[in-house]
Amino acid sequence: MKLNAHEIEEAAKELVYEESTDSLNGLLLHGQVCDFEFPAAAEVRLDYYRAGQELFFQGHIAGDVVGHCARCLEEYTFDLGKDFFLVLVPKSELPADVELSGDELDLSFYDGDQIDLSPLIREQIILALPTRPLCRDDCKGLCPTCGANLNTQACACTASSGDSRLAVLRNLKVGS
Ligand SMILES: [Zn+2]
Ligand SMILES: [Zn+2]
Repeated sequence: MKLNAHEIEEAAKELVYEESTDSLNGLLLHGQVCDFEFPAAAEVRLDYYRAGQELFFQGHIAGDVVGHCARCLEEYTFDLGKDFFLVLVPKSELPADVELSGDELDLSFYDGDQIDLSPLIREQIILALPTRPLCRDDCKGLCPTCGANLNTQACACTASSGDSRLAVLRNLKVGS
């Protein structure tokens, strides 16, 4: 999504558009497995306005994300709900006294008249993703012995895992 800086006025204007997530799908490859995938474009809703040479973009990104759980390997879908507040200043005017507060406020630079929002929005999407995909905080994962998904079933190995070494000893005694 591109905007012309000279058309951005002090009075806020609203912009709603769909940001393609195609390039993100390739980015998030983690070895062989993609941690996160985007089945569709993200919906971006924002207000934009200027104060002098500084341009402000404040809004929200929504859209489905498919995560691949790092523990149980199941797919799960969640909504990417990300608020953002971007401030763009001209590259020629490096501000010495800009106060940054909170992590919702991000300062970037623009050069010339054309503002390309897409890379900034994609960066916000990446920032919104959890560091590790988990279908739920208490996901029990897979049994290391039989591979059963312990969220949905209790396998025999879990039931006897406490005394598996004793079982080996018992078998030895039987054998001797
Ligand atoms: Zn899981
Ligand atoms: Zn098992």
